[in-house]
Amino acid sequence: MHPRKKPYELILYEYLRIRRGLSSDENSKYRKLKKGYEGELLFDAYIDNLSCDYLSLTDLWFSHNNRFFQVDNILLMNNTIYMYEVKNFLGNYYYENEKLFIEPNQEVDDPLTQLKRSEALLRQLLKNLEFLNHVQAKVVFVNPEFTLLQAPRTSKIVLPSQLNRYFHKLQQAPTRLDISFHHLAEKLQSIRLEKSPYIQYPIYDYNQLKKGIPCRSCHKFFETVEGRTCICHYCGMREALHSAVLRAIEEFAFLFPDQRITTDRVSHWIHLSLPEKRIRYVLNKYYIQKGKNKGAYYVKKNNYT
Ligand SMILES: [Zn+2]
Repeated sequence: MHPRKKPYELILYEYLRIRRGLSSDENSKYRKLKKGYEGELLFDAYIDNLSCDYLSLTDLWFSHNNRFFQVDNILLMNNTIYMYEVKNFLGNYYYENEKLFIEPNQEVDDPLTQLKRSEALLRQLLKNLEFLNHVQAKVVFVNPEFTLLQAPRTSKIVLPSQLNRYFHKLQQAPTRLDISFHHLAEKLQSIRLEKSPYIQYPIYDYNQLKKGIPCRSCHKFFETVEGRTCICHYCGMREALHSAVLRAIEEFAFLFPDQRITTDRVSHWIHLSLPEKRIRYVLNKYYIQKGKNKGAYYVKKNNYT
């Protein structure tokens, strides 16, 4: 119903990684975001395969009584509210004295603790919305390379080897979703927060960033243009010039939302020797010109500010 968007923060790190490199802290943050996102995509594939009547809400942040909490997925199905905490852990883990460890013996945050908190907060939130249905909360481990030894016998965990059977079972007696669940989905969409309140943006500066257009495949920068095609000298990938230029403009707009898009700026940003009219062609095709002559700048076509 709502295809999962790549998180803003992950896109930002991807761009910076290519154009200025990441510090070791930023790099571990980036890897964590990437792994989390890949895990959520793996989980979405199971949801997409459901054949019964359902609604699925993804990557939700809520605030309740001044406390923030996140839910990876809420599935409304069988007139039940299922909430999932999706984990893309890889390797051998084990529980000991109700604590979770990765082998050989490093303690990690226990997703069951996280689940307990977000489940309690979601329940309170739903109560405020006068929605008193039962919530079924699970931690789902999606990575096939994940092993959990000495797993606690809780019904709160779904292991990779159980995922198929779990979803098969959920669909055994399909029921039509009551209209009240459609209202609930709309309500949840309307109160969710735009993004995580905990994002700490990396600091970056235009001058630090390498200029040019990175190849979509290997991320090395295009060096030359042949006719109307960019050809990557490293991996051989070909891309239409207008598509590569458009990508670079969108990246510039994402990284510097307060900057006006002008032909000069784009030309400096893409760092390829191109006649100005080629750049203007792309801008005129996908953007709207505002102002005239020297003061001309461009805004996106669906953006009328
Ligand atoms: Zn390449």
